[in-house]
Amino acid sequence: MLNVDLHCHSTVSDGLLTPTEIANRAHQRSVDVWALTDHDEISGVAVAREVAKSLGMQHVGGVEISVTWAKKTIHIVGLQIDETSPGLVQGLYDTRHGREKRAMQIGAMLAEVGIPDAFQGALRYVGNPDLISRTHFARYLVEDGFCSDVSDVFKNYLVEGKPGYVEHRWSTLQNAVQWINGAGGVAVVAHPGRYDLTQLEMAAFLDEFKQHGGVGIEVITGSHTPDQFIEYAKVAQQYGFLASRGSDFHGPGESRTELGALPPLPPNLTPVWHDWF
Ligand code: AMP
Ligand code: MN
Ligand code: MN
Ligand code: MN
Repeated sequence: MLNVDLHCHSTVSDGLLTPTEIANRAHQRSVDVWALTDHDEISGVAVAREVAKSLGMQHVGGVEISVTWAKKTIHIVGLQIDETSPGLVQGLYDTRHGREKRAMQIGAMLAEVGIPDAFQGALRYVGNPDLISRTHFARYLVEDGFCSDVSDVFKNYLVEGKPGYVEHRWSTLQNAVQWINGAGGVAVVAHPGRYDLTQLEMAAFLDEFKQHGGVGIEVITGSHTPDQFIEYAKVAQQYGFLASRGSDFHGPGESRTELGALPPLPPNLTPVWHDWF
């Protein structure tokens, strides 16, 4: 059975390894089919493809787009994309815009609760000046002793109702799906179990996603518990969605889940890669 891992991050967004390093690591961990899916960025994809090819590993063009739907942040993964598609390139450029201003606001809010210089601090961890994320703040807060680890940060800071939370408008759901489809790709809901949506809201969201041309959801992801593997396998069947598998690996020591190490997709699902090879 193919070892497929279609979700991870490099230094081009908020991962700890470069695209080259992560390609090598995926290969070492016996991944056969691999996608790099940086947040709102495709500038690592060409290198990822080249290195994957040199290793004899099947590469899939990928991206993870930040979306605001009903005031909630949702992530949509695009797979099999042509990363040179002008609509996608422009859309992602627009989506990244505003991250720096948001980061300065996060820094100012943290200063109010006694954490000085967090913007400068977060910048130390940024690999791509175009893509400063909450993860970079989290690393700073851990390194400088304000929190014990990254998940401690996301319990006490940077999230709704806590210091350092800044509301932000990302792409619309419709635009994200259209950019992906316009680039020849397929749109997949990232880690559906992670969103703070009621059952009704989730159903409305999935209906809308499908109407706009979305075709898949992640079932096996590093963000799901084993119970959620089963829950979202059922959702995939109910909605007729293709199923995806991805670790959401961000780096050694930081991610719960290693590249290629998750269980396989449950039976009776159609893998999102079913017609790719
Ligand atoms: P941003 O796009 O700047 O809002 O940052 C989102 C990123 O923060 C996600 O992609 C994760 O890498 C990270 N993140 C969010 N929530 C958590 C959490 N509870 N634990 C660890 N990392 C998280
Ligand atoms: Mn991330
Ligand atoms: Mn995500
Ligand atoms: Mn991710």
